[in-house]
Amino acid sequence: MGRPTVHIIGAGLAGLAAAVRLAGGPRDVVLHEAARHAGGRCRSYFDPALGITIDNGNHLLLSGNTDARNYLAAIGAEDQLTGPPEADFAFMDLATGERWRLRPNAGAFPWWIFSPNRRVPGTSPLDYLGLLRLLLPGKDAPVGEVLSQSGVLYERLWRPFFLAALNTDPGEGSSKLASAVVRETLARGGRACRPLVARQGLSAAFIDPALDDLSKHGAKIHFEHRLRAIGFAMGRANAFHFGDNVLPLGPEDTVILAVPPQIAGSLVPGLKTPDSYRAIVNAHFSIAPPADFPPLMGIVNGTIEWLFAFPDRLSVTISGADRLLDVSREDLAGRIWAEVAKVTQIEKPLPPWQIIKEKRATFAATVAENRRRPGIETAYANLVLAGDWTATGLPATIEGAIRSGHRAAGKIAAMR
Ligand SMILES: Cc1cc2nc3c(=O)[nH]c(=O)nc-3n(C[C@H](O)[C@H](O)[C@H](O)COP(=O)(O)OP(=O)(O)OC[C@H]3O[C@@H](n4cnc5c(N)ncnc54)[C@H](O)[C@@H]3O)c2cc1C
Repeated sequence: MGRPTVHIIGAGLAGLAAAVRLAGGPRDVVLHEAARHAGGRCRSYFDPALGITIDNGNHLLLSGNTDARNYLAAIGAEDQLTGPPEADFAFMDLATGERWRLRPNAGAFPWWIFSPNRRVPGTSPLDYLGLLRLLLPGKDAPVGEVLSQSGVLYERLWRPFFLAALNTDPGEGSSKLASAVVRETLARGGRACRPLVARQGLSAAFIDPALDDLSKHGAKIHFEHRLRAIGFAMGRANAFHFGDNVLPLGPEDTVILAVPPQIAGSLVPGLKTPDSYRAIVNAHFSIAPPADFPPLMGIVNGTIEWLFAFPDRLSVTISGADRLLDVSREDLAGRIWAEVAKVTQIEKPLPPWQIIKEKRATFAATVAENRRRPGIETAYANLVLAGDWTATGLPATIEGAIRSGHRAAGKIAAMR
C-alpha cells in the first residue's frame, strides 16, 4: 500500500505552517489553494499603480510571537523580520503635536512605568495598575467593561494597542483575547514586545521560503484548485469535489481545512464559525520617508493609526475601519496623506497612492464571536481545522494562524 496523504486545503499561513511541520514525515503532503498564489491575507504583490511590490496590508509582529518565529526559523527566514534591539515605539498625538517614545524595559518587572522617559507622557505609574484587572481570571467581557475607557493612558496606549491586536474597537473587544495578547507580550517584558516588521515584504519572509522548503521536502501544491465540496461517509471525509473533478480519499488519508471561516462553514455540515468581521484599510504612498524617520510610528487622535516607513514607501494601517468602507478611495487618499504629511513633515502634494480596503480582514474579536470559534477537531475523524478564526485563544493574527496550523499538524501527526 502507498503512503497515506494529508491534504491541506488553503495555503494561507495556517495551511503553510501545518504543511511545513508535516512535510518530510510519514505522510505525503498535498496543498490545494484556490488562488493563483499562496499567502492568503498575508502576502506581497506587484502594484501597477505604484510600480512597486507592496504587501496586501502592513503586518506588525511582536518578539513574543513564538509560533511565528519558530515557523520562520523552520523555513530559514528568521532574519527577514527586523526591528529595534529593544522594545521601542515612536508615537505622535496629532491633536497636540506631541511626540514620544514608549520603551518598556527588557525584563518582566515593569520599572519602565516609573520612568517619565519611557512611559506615556501625561500618565502616572498608578494609571498602569488598571491593566491588572484585565489579567485577573474571570469571565470574558468587553474590554471596555474591564478597563476604563477614558483618560490619557487609554487614549495613548491601551486603545491603539488593543485596537491593533484585536482589529476591533476595544470597547467591544473580548477581554480574554486582549488579556492573552498582553500575557504573551507586554507582561513578559520588553524582550517579548519588540516591534518586528518584514522589511522586504511579507512574501519574502513568510511565503516564498515556505514554498521552497515544502518543495525540498517533496510536498505538492496545486494552485487555482478551489475545493467546492467534501464528501462524507461513516464519520470520515471520503472525497473532494473540485468543480468538474472528484478526488476520492484513501482510508488512511487525512485533511486539514485551513480556509476562512465562511468557506469552512459552507464545506463542513453543522460547523459553527465566527460570522461577523472587521475591516482594515491600508494606504500606500510611493515616496521615500525622511532619512531619520522611525520604521514604525503609532498615531493617536487622527484617522491614521500606524505609519510604516519602508525605503520606497510610506504605508498606513487603520484597524476596525468599517466606518471608512463607504468613503471614496480618492477622499481617503487625500485625507490620509494630509495626516502623513503632517507627521513626517513632508511638504509635497499627494504622491502616487494605493488604498486597499479589506472588508473581511479578520473576524470581529468580540465576546460573542470568540464563543463561536470551534476547536481543531470536527465531527469527522480524519478532518481537522486550522485558521486564525479557530479557538486559538488569540485574536486573528499571524501568531494565531501559525499556531492553529502547528496544532492541526500535531493532531494529524498523532493519528495512527
Ligand atoms: C490588511 C490586514 C492586515 C493585517 N495585519 C496584521 C498584523 O499587523 N499582525 C498580525 O499578526 N496579523 C495581521 N493580520 C491578520 C493575518 O493576516 C491573518 O490572521 C492571517 O494571515 C490568516 O491566515 P489564515 O491562514 O488563517 O487565513 P487566510 O490567509 O485567509 O488563508 C486561507 C487560504 O485559503 C484559501 N481558500 C479559500 N477557500 C478555498 C477553497 N475553497 N479551496 C482552496 N483554498 C481556499 C484562500 O485563498 C487563502 O489562501 C492582518 C490581516 C489583514 C487582512
